[in-house]
Amino acid sequence: MSLDSVLLLEAVNFAADKHRNQRRKDPDETPYINHPIGVARILTHEGGITDIAVLQAALLHDTVEDTDTTIEELESIFGTTVARIVEEVTDDKSLPKQERKRLQVEHAPHRSHQAKLVKLADKLYNLRDLNRCTPKGWSTERVQQYFEWAAQVVKGLRGTNPPLENLLDQLLKERSVQI
Ligand code: NDP
Ligand code: ZN
Repeated sequence: MSLDSVLLLEAVNFAADKHRNQRRKDPDETPYINHPIGVARILTHEGGITDIAVLQAALLHDTVEDTDTTIEELESIFGTTVARIVEEVTDDKSLPKQERKRLQVEHAPHRSHQAKLVKLADKLYNLRDLNRCTPKGWSTERVQQYFEWAAQVVKGLRGTNPPLENLLDQLLKERSVQI
């Protein structure tokens, strides 16, 4: 087996363990791990990305935000590059939600190329998930507001990966969101 495969397997195993008790917000309560795996797959299959650090960071991208994982823990296991990408895509959970969402828009243009790739794939996955089915308790207006906010974040990520940006633009246009 190649070293790259070993590195990816290590990341997917770590993420699966950390997210083991979490579910997505869709009515079927899909296991959470489907999301980071899907984000990494968007990067390979639709973004043409082969940078292993980016793919590992995609698999790990919600571990710090949503589990007890620390950046130091990621750094000791996966190294500084992967840990730094995950840190860049992690919201500060001590802040109120609206402030976190505002900061994502503000910070997006200043993120590294590698972190922007993970962000683009994360947004693409989430918008597709919202198109597939509406999360429990969400109104149509809330879904639309999420698309509007995601468009603002994506604006700051442009010039990073044309295929992913085109796929996002299609989804936003279908919702008549200004891009
Ligand atoms: P949330 O942040 O609460 O939920 C969206 C996040 O949940 C995604 O970014 C994703 O994050 C994760 N997620 C888990 N399961 C799914 C799924 N099946 N589909 C999509 N995402 C999923 O949403 P918002 O607070 O942003 O709500 C959307 C909009 O609605 C906002 O603009 C907000 O202003 C507004 N709002 C309305 C409320 C209301 O009651 N009307 C209340 C609160 C907000 P990850 O990638 O990390 O998994
Ligand atoms: Zn995510």
